[in-house]
Amino acid sequence: MRVYIQTDIEGIAGYISFEDRVSQTVENYEHRKRMCRLLTGEVSAAVRGAKKAGAKTIYINDSHGSGYNIIFEELESGCEIIHGRGSHFPEWLTELKQGWDAVVMVGQHAMAGELGAVCPHSKWTVNGGKIYLSEASMAMALAGDLGIPAVFISGDQVITGEVKEKNPAIVTGVVKHSYGPNCCRSVLPERAREIIEEGVCRGIENRRKVKPYVLKGPVTVNLLDGPGHIPPLKPVLKHPGKGKNITEAFENALAKFPWASYGKKEMDWYRYPSNLSGKKPI
Ligand SMILES: [Zn+2]
Repeated sequence: MRVYIQTDIEGIAGYISFEDRVSQTVENYEHRKRMCRLLTGEVSAAVRGAKKAGAKTIYINDSHGSGYNIIFEELESGCEIIHGRGSHFPEWLTELKQGWDAVVMVGQHAMAGELGAVCPHSKWTVNGGKIYLSEASMAMALAGDLGIPAVFISGDQVITGEVKEKNPAIVTGVVKHSYGPNCCRSVLPERAREIIEEGVCRGIENRRKVKPYVLKGPVTVNLLDGPGHIPPLKPVLKHPGKGKNITEAFENALAKFPWASYGKKEMDWYRYPSNLSGKKPI
């Protein structure tokens, strides 16, 4: 059985505000390292849950920012990790292919404009506002095009609630309760790991009862955003991405963003651990 674990960092327990990629203070360095350790702990718990449920192949996508956040030498054994960022990633959910059995999502955050959620950002508008997708529900829809069910999500009550509404059979692991963009009540790391390990195992065992989340085509996709990711949100692209399904429309939309250089030869400019280009990080 093959399980794909999509990860982000803003939704882990203990994470309360956007990453500062500019400050080189010891405080900021230590803070970022702490968040990476907490993320690694939650992802390891997901791997344990997947192994318990019988997964033999487990890929992790280190999908936040630089794509180099998870401390891979500290990860639970029995998985492989896709990490790094730039030109050589053919698609956002690299290596997710038809035939995989389940998608698991860890550390997910709410979409832009959700003022009651920690670090809300990324709000995809589909077909001119008929449906709105967060990063998590976009991943779920891309997996859906491949016939793969999303069986587990962890994060705060807002993102888990949004995804559960779209996919009622998914198992949710709420590891923090958000009060606002920079404020929440988190469970402690040990408890977060218990919630995730148990939930991932249960979600995978339940996979045959979870319908892949499929949006009927044709589809248009645009990103809504605003300063600080709070309302008023406006379409970012002048012309939305179009396609016969969400995968095609999303890839077409991504290709229009300067920060997404998937499939092109040159590296994009954000590199870990330091920004070598001198351009302002995003
Ligand atoms: Zn992120």
